[in-house]
Amino acid sequence: MEQRRILVVDDDSDVLDATSALLEIEGYAVARARNGREALRSLAVEAADLILLDLMMPVMDGVDFCLALRSGEHGKTPVIVISADQTAPRKVREMDVQGFLGKPFDVDALLREIRRILPPPSPTVH
Ligand SMILES: [Mg+2]
Repeated sequence: MEQRRILVVDDDSDVLDATSALLEIEGYAVARARNGREALRSLAVEAADLILLDLMMPVMDGVDFCLALRSGEHGKTPVIVISADQTAPRKVREMDVQGFLGKPFDVDALLREIRRILPPPSPTVH
């Protein structure tokens, strides 16, 4: 069965490590990026089925990344924003994203959001 690939974008290495480890345990293939520019580079090498996106990051933040993403080759890739930014709910309303979670996020809530957007493939019946 083809593994679903999730790109995790966050400048906080602890969040990046913890989220990646969680997703790998859940059976996803994980790519990581520390800012928007790294994320665009990662997508140019290999597409993702879903992107988990922090907003406040150096070099290229989540808002600018999302604008670049939507106008590019991988523009249809769904995005879940994960942010502690007080203004995140307002920013997210103006962004073309499919989900939003505040930080720190609840693990079950994250997995529920991911499954809502990327439903697990139904098991093959023999
Ligand atoms: Mg950040």
